[in-house]
Order: sequence, then structure tokens, then C-alpha cells
Amino acid sequence: MMVNDFYKSTSWKRKRKKILRRDVYVCRESRRYGKTEPATTVHHIYPLEFYPELALEDWNLISLCEKQHNAMHDRVTHEITELGRQWQERVRPQFEEWMENNKRGDTQHS
Ligand SMILES: [Zn+2]
Repeated sequence: MMVNDFYKSTSWKRKRKKILRRDVYVCRESRRYGKTEPATTVHHIYPLEFYPELALEDWNLISLCEKQHNAMHDRVTHEITELGRQWQERVRPQFEEWMENNKRGDTQHS
């Protein structure tokens, strides 16, 4: 499925609402610094483009405000920034457990 089509899908819209509810509509990154910012976006910690199979995993999704979401992606390349990689480290145990349960012999992701 194309990325744009995914974001239009009912399953994503439903999941997005669920994640925002889980995070009580507060930006998770701002919360780390004791700030309460309304969350407007749900971010894929392991990006949809490279990990489509993780698109709907709760542990791969966090609610963010727009400012913090922009900080997770490089403006030009759209790649995950250092800040975004910190979140990947934080969910590493879930990521590894998922990979263990869903072995894909083809590629290795580090
Ligand atoms: Zn994002």
C-alpha cells in the first residue's frame, strides 16, 4: 500500500485516535521535559516507509505536537533525526520482540 493511501485508511484513522487517547492528547516528547503540549500528530517511531509491517503497532506510535514531530524528521531528507532515534532506542525491546516473533529472513535492520 502506498504511504498516502495508508494515511487515508480507516484502520489508520481508528488507530490514530486510539493512540491519541492512550497518550491523553499530550505530546510525549514535551512531557519528557515536564511540559504539557496538545498532541496533534501520531508519529511512527520506526518509519512507515521502511517498516510498513509496524504501521499499526501501538508501541511504534507516539503522540506529538507539531513542533516536536518536525524535530523527529530531517526537513530535507525526511530521515529520522537523532532525537527520533532516541525513541527507537526506547522501544528497542518491543522492536526486538516483534522481530523475534515475525522473522523475515530477507533483510537485517540495525
Ligand atoms: Zn513522524
